[in-house]
Amino acid sequence: MAKLYFKFGAMGASKTANALMVRYNYLERGKRPLLLKPRLDCRDGKTMIRSRIGLEAECGFVEDFLDEMAAYEAEVDGGVVTGDGAVAGDVAATGDGAMVGDGAVAGDVATDGVTGGAVDDGARARETRKPLDFDAVIVDEAQFLTAEQVDALARIVDEFDIPVMCYGLRTDFRGVGFEGSTRLLLIADKIEAIKTVCWCGKAACFNARLDADGHVMREGDQILLGGNGTYISLCRKHYYAGLASRPE
Ligand SMILES: [Zn+2]
Repeated sequence: MAKLYFKFGAMGASKTANALMVRYNYLERGKRPLLLKPRLDCRDGKTMIRSRIGLEAECGFVEDFLDEMAAYEAEVDGGVVTGDGAVAGDVAATGDGAMVGDGAVAGDVATDGVTGGAVDDGARARETRKPLDFDAVIVDEAQFLTAEQVDALARIVDEFDIPVMCYGLRTDFRGVGFEGSTRLLLIADKIEAIKTVCWCGKAACFNARLDADGHVMREGDQILLGGNGTYISLCRKHYYAGLASRPE
């Protein structure tokens, strides 16, 4: 069974490079990976994902993908056209063949015995028709997802048996969880840390934001896209101590 993965790391942990390498591995095996990022993250130009070490690839937006998925599911589950041209409408969505809003349509469907057929067609279409023409979904900058988007991605895993791999930061510069990351930590099947190190050599799990003088900041907006903020990865001890580098 496919799984929902959350691979988190501090800044500089090569999360994006990891995501791009996983994508490459799929391609190399003749598979079709789908690379996405939240629309919010537009630092690198509209539809590119770039790693610091120079790897890059085209990507789509999570929002567009989920919209397409919702439209597809609505079509498969709720819009199956019956033999006489009547639309089954909500029949599949109600799941038990209960009467739908338009009594005439529901009546036709029921008496024609198409209700069950519509559901079956929906299930078949789900398996055979593929707007999901890919073998894996890879999401970079997953911390910027909403909890709702994470849940929608989990449905892709569960309903379509397609693995979804999310890469992102766990906490912001204040040590507070991002919405997407928090939801992923709660519901992902597999959670994995991508490690990087503090200046002291210990594992770094905090993203400190530095002010112009190089001091660790404690307050400010969670997201500072395209801003002048400088970030550094620190271990917990040095994050709390506010030591961005080895003392002189
Ligand atoms: Zn340290």
